[in-house]
Amino acid sequence: MIRVEDLHRHFGGFRAVDGASLTIREGSITGLIGPNGAGKSTLFNVIAGVLPPTSGKVYMDGEDITGLPPHALFHRGLLRTFQLAHEFASMTVRENLMMVPGQQTGETIWKTWFKRGQIWREEDALRRRADEVLDFLTIRHLAHEKAGNLSGGQKKLLELGRTMMVDAKIVFLDEVGAGVNRTLLGTIGDAIVRLNRERGYTFCVIEHDMDFIGKLCDPVIVMAEGKVLAEGSAADIMQNEEVIEAYLGT
Ligand code: ADP
Ligand code: MG
Repeated sequence: MIRVEDLHRHFGGFRAVDGASLTIREGSITGLIGPNGAGKSTLFNVIAGVLPPTSGKVYMDGEDITGLPPHALFHRGLLRTFQLAHEFASMTVRENLMMVPGQQTGETIWKTWFKRGQIWREEDALRRRADEVLDFLTIRHLAHEKAGNLSGGQKKLLELGRTMMVDAKIVFLDEVGAGVNRTLLGTIGDAIVRLNRERGYTFCVIEHDMDFIGKLCDPVIVMAEGKVLAEGSAADIMQNEEVIEAYLGT
């Protein structure tokens, strides 16, 4: 589904991504691991159009998508989750879901003036979809909670929920487990697996918790110093001498 070819992203003279090549198979939950500073987040940002590459190519379903802006990728179903923006903190969880970009168009403003009946029906459909998402993620009880009051893990669930408001094909998750308690990490893992099996989402997940990676991800890709060091099942990766050395060396 995604093919990355000899990707580079340099910052000044520093090679954060230094010739990375990899593929993400459709229907997989692919794990991306590696020591701090390996270039994982930078790679995500280049794939998701947040940062232009210095050189190299990114393909989606065989089509060159290198350097396309995030909104263009969004329309192709390629999403990268982001921490909730500051201005959304005072909105409720359900309102946050209903505000997902792509739902709002310039035309909508006109409709509010000329087609009040229609806009209400659209809002209704959006609200129903938001509630379905909340049910799916088992957080319907948080619908009216202000997003700013959520715990770290609940925020991650909401970020995941936002990808469900559009028809995502592939979702990139950066450090899903950071600052999340084990119970919620389990809930997030379950949601990922169900989205994968029931809705056909492909995932690429950066995470440090090897338990989580081991349970969810196949294959696992290991990055070190801006390059792909190894790829395989979680069990194979954890026994790979080069991988162990890369982690010990930092
Ligand atoms: P990871 O996510 O694997 O921990 P990152 O992709 O965040 O690694 O960072 C890789 C390297 O690139 C790090 O050494 C980091 O300091 C550097 N880096 C990341 N972003 C920038 C930037 N905007 N400017 C300069 N250096 C950066
Ligand atoms: Mg990172």
